[in-house]
Amino acid sequence: MKYFDYAATTPPYPEVVRAMGEMMQQHYGNPSSLHRYGEEADRLLRRAREVSAAVLGVHSDELIWTSGATESNNLALKGAAMRRGRLKGHIVTTAIEHASVYEACRQLEQLGFEVSYMDAEPNGIVPLEQIQAAVREDTILFSMMHVNNETGAVQPVLEVARWIKRHHPRTLVHVDGVQGFGRLAPLPLAEGSIDLYSLSAHKLRGPRGVGLLYVKQGTELLPLLAGGGQESGYRSGTEHVAGIAGMTKALRMSAEKQVAQEQQLRLLSNQLREQIRTISGLKLTEVGEAAPHIVHFTYPGMKAEVVLHSLEQQGMLVSTQSACASRRAKPSRVLRSMGMEAEAAMSGIRISLGDEHTADDIIQLVAALRQTVQALRPLERR
Ligand code: PMP
Repeated sequence: MKYFDYAATTPPYPEVVRAMGEMMQQHYGNPSSLHRYGEEADRLLRRAREVSAAVLGVHSDELIWTSGATESNNLALKGAAMRRGRLKGHIVTTAIEHASVYEACRQLEQLGFEVSYMDAEPNGIVPLEQIQAAVREDTILFSMMHVNNETGAVQPVLEVARWIKRHHPRTLVHVDGVQGFGRLAPLPLAEGSIDLYSLSAHKLRGPRGVGLLYVKQGTELLPLLAGGGQESGYRSGTEHVAGIAGMTKALRMSAEKQVAQEQQLRLLSNQLREQIRTISGLKLTEVGEAAPHIVHFTYPGMKAEVVLHSLEQQGMLVSTQSACASRRAKPSRVLRSMGMEAEAAMSGIRISLGDEHTADDIIQLVAALRQTVQALRPLERR
């Protein structure tokens, strides 16, 4: 089997697995315990925080460990919105966010907040001008993803963050960095235009179930989990020390490999795009600025699932929509936001690459795609 679903999750680096095994076997103390096992776990936790903060170019007390980006996004949005104890205010986000942002915004709407969801252009990007038109004096929070997990479209997060900080300094800026980190040049968090930034370990060849939220100094959040007061009171619960150590390793390795990885992924994804353009029946989703690891196409008239299973029979694992949304047989919200017809938006296939792929993998994948189209042609709905 060949795995082309790196945007859903990635195989952990062997170094990550080793570091975590060692931690679980040898340093299983609770960092809150006062005895030496606890102290040792606490020391390792502090070390992990320092290393991760250095990788991100921020202070170690600005990082909150979470159970993943779903939690980071919920904490950022609900925590920021509800911190003032009033259930009203205006929030601006986009219609193409990951469900963990989109659904959190829906919940906030039910609580009394007003949310504006900005649509993407047909090229997959929500332009700065759209945001400029939407942000108001009473906008308390803005949230946008760096890279869309379905189409790979790179969003103008830094430009928008800088504009908001200049014109609406009281509006908090949240960026979901999950699909951008390690794939694109790092965002300059130290410059201070982004207040909240979410990451997930398992998209970076780290473990499942660990993430972090960067919270710029001075930013207030209402904690979502009450309890023992870990993570400076922002996220109670005994820390997942082994997972945190694994995430730290993955963060560091991803940051070190970023430039080389981006170059290699761009080469492969460009080859793949060129080939897909030549397969009649498939329609490459052309985005304004593409992330290096995601290629998206539709096969109008064919259900995405049928295409996925045909590719699987040939040993190629790809994705329909995003992994989190793929069990719902609905047209993709992201593709609909870009103005795509409902039928086409049911036929999207995402191919996502990782640092282990080679040119030969792309050749094999393209051969399987051609074979699939040939086999399915009689079934096409015209
Ligand atoms: N945001 C984006 C852009 C994602 O791609 C994902 C993972 N599908 C998440 C958030 C959620 O991350 P996690 O799986 O760690 O909860």
